[in-house]
Amino acid sequence: MLLVVGASATGAATADPALLGAANAAQPAVIASLKDMVLIESGSTDAAGLSKMAGYVEARLQALGARTERIAPARGPGSMVKGSFSGSGTRKLMLIAHMDTVYPAGTLASEPYRQDGNRLYGPGIADDKGGVAVILHSLAILKDAGWRDCAQLTVLFNHDEEVGSTTSGETIAQLAEQHDYVFSAEPTGAKAVARTEGLLLGAAGTATAILEVKGRASHAGAAPDAGRNALIELAYQLQQTRDIARDIPGAQLNWTMAQAGVVSNQIPERASARADVRLTAPGAADRLRAALQDKVKAGRLVADTETTVTLQVGRPPYLANDRARALAAQAQAIYAELDGRQLTLHPMTGGATDAGFASRSGKAVVLESFGLAGSGYHARDEYIEIDSIAPRLYLMTRMLQTVARAP
Ligand SMILES: [Zn+2]
Repeated sequence: MLLVVGASATGAATADPALLGAANAAQPAVIASLKDMVLIESGSTDAAGLSKMAGYVEARLQALGARTERIAPARGPGSMVKGSFSGSGTRKLMLIAHMDTVYPAGTLASEPYRQDGNRLYGPGIADDKGGVAVILHSLAILKDAGWRDCAQLTVLFNHDEEVGSTTSGETIAQLAEQHDYVFSAEPTGAKAVARTEGLLLGAAGTATAILEVKGRASHAGAAPDAGRNALIELAYQLQQTRDIARDIPGAQLNWTMAQAGVVSNQIPERASARADVRLTAPGAADRLRAALQDKVKAGRLVADTETTVTLQVGRPPYLANDRARALAAQAQAIYAELDGRQLTLHPMTGGATDAGFASRSGKAVVLESFGLAGSGYHARDEYIEIDSIAPRLYLMTRMLQTVARAP
């Protein structure tokens, strides 16, 4: 099936006919790439699958003329694949997407690759093999057009996005700092969940708060008063910190896990709890950490217990700056060239993305969600919409052309 996007017949600027023709013509090749990649199962802990995916995308980048490099992390399975292109312009551009999925090996057996009307199904097809495909095929279109208008174009595919990018995040942040623009290709919502396709301008950062109480063990039946009950103290500290983030703009904290004691007839010596923390403002993590430590220091219920609190920061928040917002408005104008097609700009999602690492230094202009329209990620029956392929390729190629020429 070939769904063709027509040029604008309305008052909006008309589409670039060569690019639009190429985007429409690329659809069968994109579908073939999606099938190839979905058939390579690549869950975040699947070393063999991740290695196969890395081999696949590396070969594809080389075929496009890139110099490639595998960047192996200090620990854990998988490696990043970096592709570098050089051109004759002045701007440095970077494209990112991830190779790993949330699905364990064997998921394909019960959820095979298949097409049903406008939908292509398969584990990870939207999140994020669709994003990888948008990058590879957009670059193919630009290569065929002889485009070399940027100084440098870097592609980074990482292998651990679904487990927090704990080994690739630093690489993304450092590389992004050396570029003018970074486009991240996570998926955008399908028609069943979103009115139109879009781009994302913000995502929460993540952190974990850990509260630990040390008391004193004692026989719970014979000598309870000789003990110092860490569990009771933990309960007290949880109560006094549960609303602490309310006064800190851009911070959210929810205690979600707790543990105490080893047997029921002993006053527990140790107790601990963990909180899910979301951060949507720069500096919110430091303010939250300080507030937690002050509160815990301010008072205790059980004498002689010691409480410590730490905050482990994960992905930084992603917040589009003014330049990114202006560029997103240009993206809307580019989408409108396709028969007035609408592009929704989503201000914020609770889910974290690698755009947070890319925008950490504030140097690059970062936009997120250049992938295909899809649904069912991190769930069942994940799919992409075939009729989003040509518009997304058109958007990515036009955006690359636009920013490469930016003053
Ligand atoms: Zn993703």
